[in-house]
Amino acid sequence: MKTYRTRIFRIDENNLEEAIAEAAAIIKEGGTVAFPTETVYGLGADALNPEAVKAIFQAKGRPADNPLIVHVSSKEQCESLVKNISDKAVLLMNIFWPGPLTLIMERKQVVPDITTGGLDTVALRMPDNKVAMELIKCSGKAIAAPSANRSGKPSPTTAEHVISDLDGRIDVVIDGGPVIVGVESTVIDMTTEPPAILRPGMVSQQDIENEIGSVDIGYDDKVHPDNKEVRSPGMKYTHYSPDANVILVEGNNENVTKKISQMFSDFQMRGAKIGLLLTEESAKHFVSKEIFSLGRKDKPEETASSLFFGLRYMDEKKVDVILVDGSFSHLGVGAAVSNRIRKAAEMIIKV
Ligand code: AMP
Ligand code: MG
Repeated sequence: MKTYRTRIFRIDENNLEEAIAEAAAIIKEGGTVAFPTETVYGLGADALNPEAVKAIFQAKGRPADNPLIVHVSSKEQCESLVKNISDKAVLLMNIFWPGPLTLIMERKQVVPDITTGGLDTVALRMPDNKVAMELIKCSGKAIAAPSANRSGKPSPTTAEHVISDLDGRIDVVIDGGPVIVGVESTVIDMTTEPPAILRPGMVSQQDIENEIGSVDIGYDDKVHPDNKEVRSPGMKYTHYSPDANVILVEGNNENVTKKISQMFSDFQMRGAKIGLLLTEESAKHFVSKEIFSLGRKDKPEETASSLFFGLRYMDEKKVDVILVDGSFSHLGVGAAVSNRIRKAAEMIIKV
């Protein structure tokens, strides 16, 4: 694979315009730029330039049949890429854009096969982040941008995560500080009736149903290595996995704390280095060097914004096993957090 001299643009109020202009020029020339969005960092390139999109797949080591989300900054740009936009799709765009909701619609022929993984549909969203929006506007391009991690690894929530995965493999990283949401966008397929949620995210099933009535759930929380029938190609790949083995313990807080404390002793006796990802409520029962807080158990926004960071933190600490407290609320964005951690886990224990 080609090697790059990856440049890092650290954004502040004074250099924002200049940095965006330079990054936009690189997008126009067919280069790759990692940038913050409100969900996670994305790795962007001109969505209509097949060579540029190819560089994204190569940098990430992403399977070619896993399509990319295309980021737009206006409704007009959206209309230039898709056809047969349904009334429900218009409603959702009006309510949730810019924001963490991705809509799958029928593509127009201008969208190349490589961007859609050969599908006749394309996934679109408008990000709620100033740097991302300015980059799209200034480049004048729709920007294809999957999460800016090596394929299979936890998604990046800081520029440091991007650099650790992709330094030397991409042209630019724009450092805009840590992201807000921490898990990827909700993905909804608008080409079926009723529409189907293919990936849970910050915009919940309830949020969507309040606007357009009932929707199908087209995902489950397991991995499907051999299942060719999945509706979203990304669903069949291992995801979000740190180097350490992840064991998820689900149940009420008291039972989970008991189980994790028993497993902690067992692993310690066997000489394993253990990392603990715990809710605030559980953390107070443990004394260990490697504890990372998932926030308060009834605040799924806190769990969302700390999950990927915590998994990567434990890899930096070179732990062998990560025990994860699954007693956090599964409501709202908690459904998305649960989906991601279940996919990252080698083992799920219910207590
Ligand atoms: P990422 O960009 O890493 O957040 O991944 C994008 C997700 O959206 C993956 O799970 C893809 O499989 C899914 N996706 C993108 N485009 C489509 C599409 N046209 N149809 C179904 N799923 C899609
Ligand atoms: Mg991803």
